[in-house]
Amino acid sequence: MSSDPVDLLRTRGIQVTAQRLAVLRAVASEPHMTAEQVAVIVRDDIGAISLQSVYDALNLLVADGVIRRIQPAGSAARFEDRVGDNHHHLICRQCGRITDVDCAAGRTPCLTAPDDKGYEVDEAEVAYWGRCSTCLAKSKPSAFRARKRSRPRRRKRRDQ
Ligand SMILES: [Zn+2]
Ligand SMILES: [Zn+2]
Repeated sequence: MSSDPVDLLRTRGIQVTAQRLAVLRAVASEPHMTAEQVAVIVRDDIGAISLQSVYDALNLLVADGVIRRIQPAGSAARFEDRVGDNHHHLICRQCGRITDVDCAAGRTPCLTAPDDKGYEVDEAEVAYWGRCSTCLAKSKPSAFRARKRSRPRRRKRRDQ
C-alpha cells in the first residue's frame, strides 16, 4: 500500500480504530485473502478479535472503496487493497490460486457498457478461469497419456 493506512481511513472519513487499521494492514499484506485468513493475521497483530468484527471491518472498508471484494464462483469472498483500476483475475480451477491481471483493454473501459439499459454500472467483473502454471506442469504427463489413449477410440467411432 502506497499511502499511510491512517491517512487512507481519514481521507475517506472513516473513524480510525485499531481493528480497522489491523484489518487494512492484513489485506494489504497479501492480495485475495479470505476473511478467515485476514482474521488470523489480525489476531497475530492485535490479539483477540471475533470473526464477526473482522467481517464488519472488511465490509465497511469495501463499502467505502478502501478495499475490493471479489468472489469467484465456488470460492469464499476474497479481499484486496488494489482498488479503482478494474483489474481482472486469473483463477486456477485446480488449486484456486488467484492472480491479478491488468484490465484487458486499458484503464476501466470495461465499465462502459455498450448499452447500460439505464443501469448505473460501477463494476465490471472479468475472471479468466483455467489452470495455473504450477498445476499445469504437475498434470502434463497424465494429460499426455489421456490424449494418447483417446485417439484410437475416436478413430473407432469414425469407422462405425
Ligand atoms: Zn493451480
Ligand atoms: Zn486482484
